[in-house]
Amino acid sequence: MLYRKYRPQTFAQLVGQEHVVKTLQGSLITGRIGHALLFTGPRGTGKTTMARIFAKALNCDKRDKNGDPDNTCPGCLAVNNGTSLDLIEIDAASQTGVDNIRELTDSATVAAAGGKYKVFLIDEVHMLSKSAFNALLKTLEEPPGHVVFILATTEPHKILPTVLSRVQRFDFKRLSTAEIVRKLKEIARSEKISIEDDALNAIAVSSDGALRDAEVALTKIRAMIPGTISGDQAIKVLGLIPYTYHPRFLQYLLVGDKAGAVATVHAIYDAGLDLEHFAKEFLEYARKALLARINPATLAAIDGEGAEKQFAQFSLADNQKLIKIIGVFTGARSQIKSSPIPQLPLELAILEI
Ligand SMILES: [Zn+2]
Repeated sequence: MLYRKYRPQTFAQLVGQEHVVKTLQGSLITGRIGHALLFTGPRGTGKTTMARIFAKALNCDKRDKNGDPDNTCPGCLAVNNGTSLDLIEIDAASQTGVDNIRELTDSATVAAAGGKYKVFLIDEVHMLSKSAFNALLKTLEEPPGHVVFILATTEPHKILPTVLSRVQRFDFKRLSTAEIVRKLKEIARSEKISIEDDALNAIAVSSDGALRDAEVALTKIRAMIPGTISGDQAIKVLGLIPYTYHPRFLQYLLVGDKAGAVATVHAIYDAGLDLEHFAKEFLEYARKALLARINPATLAAIDGEGAEKQFAQFSLADNQKLIKIIGVFTGARSQIKSSPIPQLPLELAILEI
């Protein structure tokens, strides 16, 4: 799996999450280490990877001036091999009980084996049972000086306020398409995978900001396609809606070509593609078209510099009409699943516009 092979081993290798890296590096440099950290954010955005790098850095004698671990000392190697006694990882999704947490808090009272710090990484911490949470809370109230808890979750709203008040919170963001493309390009270069930019872009867009999903998709495509991977091939393997549909569909709606718009919906349905997925992607596309007109800076943050150029064909579009299209299709999208005829909500939306 490419995502394992190319998992970053240092802060410098990480893509995105600069705000988290900066704060963690600062704490390593000043020596003011928080004892309870909460990493929140969507799946695949690097929470566990960040926790492992931080755990290595805490115990590394040879870390550099930026706080990066050297990855050659015994402590670093043990973390990289998954054999470290000073980094204890728990998956709260499978170890939800109070006994698991008691074991952990008992172990927290014992000094670190090799290094200075004992780091407990509790993944999916929102899955802990109530009693387990309470047991954890007791230790979080007065953590031993050598212990660092890193709680990771995709659902921070499920964390009790009493826990939230005791942790330093770090919000991980979805990666931008441009960031994901940059990382995929690096991997493709080292792996000598010949792949067109269109294909990298399709993978990045389909991964919805989760780098790990993008890396998994690249592995899958490489296994299926010998030789150079084109955009069309990537789209086919990933079961995506070809890009060409989105601009064409938006153009039909803007000029009022109902027949053309309805034919597009039918073509997608007949090709066995998922209409709900199409509606979601189309909404993203229409939103970007609107951003390109009213706020190119926001669009650049999502898709990189110069992204507004791909929407040049809509430069004369009426903003109000775009807003109406987005509103009507947002409603239609939510009805596709419950509709007896999947095409119907989209057809009605077309007629409404
Ligand atoms: Zn080291």
